Amino acid sequence: METNPKRKLNSREVREDFPALRQTVYGKNLIYFDNGATSQKPQSVIDAINLYYTKNNANIHRGVHHLSQKATNEYEAARATIAQYIHAKHTHEIIFTKGTTDSINLVANSFGALLQAGDEIIISHMEHHSNIVPWQMLCERVGCVLKVIPISKKGDLLFDEYEKLLSSKTKLVSITHISNTLGTINPIKKMIASAHAVGAKVLIDGAQSIQHTKIDVQELDCDFFAFSGHKVFGPTGIGVLYGKEAILNKMPPYQGGGDMIAKVTFEKTTYNELPFKFEAGTPHIAGAICLGKAIEYLSQFNIEDIERHELELADYAHDLLLTFEGLHIVGESKKKTSVVSFVIDGIHPFDLGTLLDKQGIAVRTGHHCTQPLMDFYRIPGTVRASFAFYNTKQEIDTFISALEKAITMLK
Ligand SMILES: *Cc1c(COP(=O)(O)O)cnc(C)c1O
Repeated sequence: METNPKRKLNSREVREDFPALRQTVYGKNLIYFDNGATSQKPQSVIDAINLYYTKNNANIHRGVHHLSQKATNEYEAARATIAQYIHAKHTHEIIFTKGTTDSINLVANSFGALLQAGDEIIISHMEHHSNIVPWQMLCERVGCVLKVIPISKKGDLLFDEYEKLLSSKTKLVSITHISNTLGTINPIKKMIASAHAVGAKVLIDGAQSIQHTKIDVQELDCDFFAFSGHKVFGPTGIGVLYGKEAILNKMPPYQGGGDMIAKVTFEKTTYNELPFKFEAGTPHIAGAICLGKAIEYLSQFNIEDIERHELELADYAHDLLLTFEGLHIVGESKKKTSVVSFVIDGIHPFDLGTLLDKQGIAVRTGHHCTQPLMDFYRIPGTVRASFAFYNTKQEIDTFISALEKAITMLK
């Protein structure tokens, strides 16, 4: 997978790899600034989907025939590619899921089955609904207690408050690496160390970090790491849960069915080993293989180059946005990247989004699945521009003029 030397990051050249970016919307060149919601796909991933269904489609594992073995090999090769990319110790620590939401639900149900009334789970005020609701459901089921780390107006977690919440009752800290709404990069390494000091496990919601920054699960020492394929240039419907082997082995299966068993009788069923114990039923074989291709595509580049380029874009957009009267940036952490959220006095985000769309610009408006965060800022929603490595400063210039136009129409 390592291709040395790495490909130089030139966003104009990179764009050529993404056919969806080469289209017009209402007669304007598409400017895609909704990467926080989902990313576009490179041609290599699109080709791999086609190839899989054209030549390699078969059900995996247990098949003696050629096609089944080919599909199995590719599915397992994708797992190995992902394990290597996030530096997991073992390939069987990579579990294929439907996405981040599914990964978090797996942990809430399976790790959750080991918890008891009174045990505490810590999340933060900036979590995506998918890192809130599964824990609320678990608390309701088991009688656990959910604690929330408060944040500052600038959008940083209050670290001292976090440390005060930690105790021997804390069983799990589940925290986003990068906020999808604010762009804040949380100090997860430090947070993991503090959690471990009281014996708690840590789940990192990596839905917004895997595509932007280097992930080394062993260096972070996180217990779980969840992400979605579709936000990292892969297909929808596929995602990953990384978990440390020892913890995954202690956890009961999440779902029952085919492939997750070793032996079934009506009296007793024994479960398969990792990772299959957590992959009941026919998985999204094409999705997993193509997620592997997306990770291979991404690995051509130095992730540090991607990070630098995206930070430049975010800073550039941030500075230009601040020149607008009555515009407020939501999320002003010193440690942020790739996302710029804002509101403008007297203008509803939805109206702005609609007028930007008419000019070919895709941004997201609304609460971004972070309603408690919107309540904290007392706003109904924001306009969010979120960047990927294929975006350019020129696109931001066009976006800024389009915004000027939209504001004039709405004022
Ligand atoms: C998108 C997102 C999720 C949910 O991902 P799905 O692909 O919808 O399962 C969770 N957390 C964050 C921070 C996200 O951005």
